[in-house]
Amino acid sequence: MSEWADEHRVLDPRFASEPGPWSTARIPYAREWMDSAALPWVRGVTICGSTQIGKTEAVNNVIGYYIHQRPSPAMMVMPNADSARLAGERRILPMVMANDALRAELTERSHDVKNREMAFRSSILYLRSAHSPTEMSSVPVRLVVGDEVKNWPKWSGKEASPLALVRERTRTFTDHVIVLCSTPSTRDGLIQREFMQGDQRRYHVPCPHCGAWQTLTFKRVKWDNEKIATGNAMRAAKDAWYECDHCSARIDDRQKREMLPLGMWVPEGKTVEEWRALRDSERNEHRSYHLWAGYSPWITWWKIAATFLDAKHEPADMMNFVNNWLAEIWEDKINDATVEAIAACVEERVQGECPDDVMVLTGAVDVQKDRLEWSVQGWGMDEESWLVAAGKVMRARDGDDWRELSDILFNGVWGKQQLRLRCCVVDSRYRPDEALDFVRRHQPVARMIIGVERDAPIPFTTHRIDKHPRTGIVLPNAIVVWHVNVGMFKDLVASRIARTVEEPNTRRGRMHLPNDLPVDWLTQMASEHKVRERSGSKEVHRWVIKPGHQRNEAWDLTVYQAAAGRLQRCDLLRSEDAATIPKLTPPPAPTTPKKPHRPPGARFPLLGGNRP
Ligand SMILES: [Zn+2]
Repeated sequence: MSEWADEHRVLDPRFASEPGPWSTARIPYAREWMDSAALPWVRGVTICGSTQIGKTEAVNNVIGYYIHQRPSPAMMVMPNADSARLAGERRILPMVMANDALRAELTERSHDVKNREMAFRSSILYLRSAHSPTEMSSVPVRLVVGDEVKNWPKWSGKEASPLALVRERTRTFTDHVIVLCSTPSTRDGLIQREFMQGDQRRYHVPCPHCGAWQTLTFKRVKWDNEKIATGNAMRAAKDAWYECDHCSARIDDRQKREMLPLGMWVPEGKTVEEWRALRDSERNEHRSYHLWAGYSPWITWWKIAATFLDAKHEPADMMNFVNNWLAEIWEDKINDATVEAIAACVEERVQGECPDDVMVLTGAVDVQKDRLEWSVQGWGMDEESWLVAAGKVMRARDGDDWRELSDILFNGVWGKQQLRLRCCVVDSRYRPDEALDFVRRHQPVARMIIGVERDAPIPFTTHRIDKHPRTGIVLPNAIVVWHVNVGMFKDLVASRIARTVEEPNTRRGRMHLPNDLPVDWLTQMASEHKVRERSGSKEVHRWVIKPGHQRNEAWDLTVYQAAAGRLQRCDLLRSEDAATIPKLTPPPAPTTPKKPHRPPGARFPLLGGNRP
């Protein structure tokens, strides 16, 4: 088929970026796509690739070849009727008219793009919409080309999926072939599923320096991170390169063009050497291919880097980059706590009220330079949680703010259940000495924490302070500092918030907020989102402050509370085995004031106001 294309195909200047005779050598990776579609044993060819790699023209070649060389009924399936008509007008018709061999195949009835059918001497091409099952039924076809598969309708369960209908149409031809191509969308998207069903081929190329075979990945596109931090800076500098996975040598765009013709498609699980020995005898029925923009002869390394730098702070742009440039599925959806979902957590309850289901109370303190932010949270079965109260204490010159905080958190009891704090975590980023004093005074309830970023899924690590000044031996009763993997708890909190909207009837992990929090609190809770970032040569996922947001104490306190809940093993309070767990022992009798901390109904001074 690739030879046929080289001989016959001419690209129409109105619709092609590189008009003139088609040359498969220009995009060497497309040779196997096309040849596969003409092999007698191949029933399926799936191409999951980014935009700008030439897959549209390669697919057009498949149609042209079948019309000319293997006359048979064929169907091109587009997402909807409009795109099907446009494909006929802008892709198929120009191809036919620019190609003498194909034009000679047209009959007097000629073409009928309006009705989305094109008749040839011994074949017919149907242009169909994936949204219309009736259009796709009733005609048997030997070749099906499905384009922009990601925009096909999702299977609703009521009628057969578009792909099932297509398969049904080809049943009478034992030598049929189904060619699907698209950029990917999500993990359960059609193109991704079909790619996984096939033999999952990736294009391996040899390094021009050391000769080592490798697939190209975005991770190894490099630039000077310190000098170039924005898309505009990259467009000015135009300085990025590819780093060989094996010898770390620099591979420039010019060298990429030398590498491409030497490349080889290798299925998942095979090395280049193994495959070289096997490939002449393989008879895989379904060949699936993955290719991203890094392989495109039209896209330079710096363009990829600039697009990434432009997109990295905005999830929507990032999704476009990941789907359409990297040709990978997008998955960061859960990691953005939206104001709407947070608002859905608000219930008819004021601060200070402790619902009956609360069994354990935890506290969290965020130490700032000029104030102490705090919150108290209640926990019930299945990690259901209620924010009971939150506020702040401004810094006093004589350290009085810490005493005031002690009063609020530890003197007195909360709710009808007369609960006291089981655990109170204190972030010691600022004013660590004062925080340490506070933690010492309130042992063992108060715990010192430090937020850390860690890629491994370890929620906590610890170290002890208080070592003997000479021997370095840890003293008995030394204070433990808990390193909290905040990224992990942010994931946890974000998924709990999302669940409020997605699964309104489950109580597991449900978060409840009182209705008298300042509006500021809810916006603060939505102040961060998770993005893909690069750390050296690695691509990592990080929680970062959204553009336009600044303070985020409310979010930090919520995250610390999630950590405090886990430290108290609130995750073990499971309703399904409630009968088997021992009843929680009542809290020890308070030593100081017996009266409830706050008269019922009294509003608590909140964030935004100094505590009297
Ligand atoms: Zn190398």
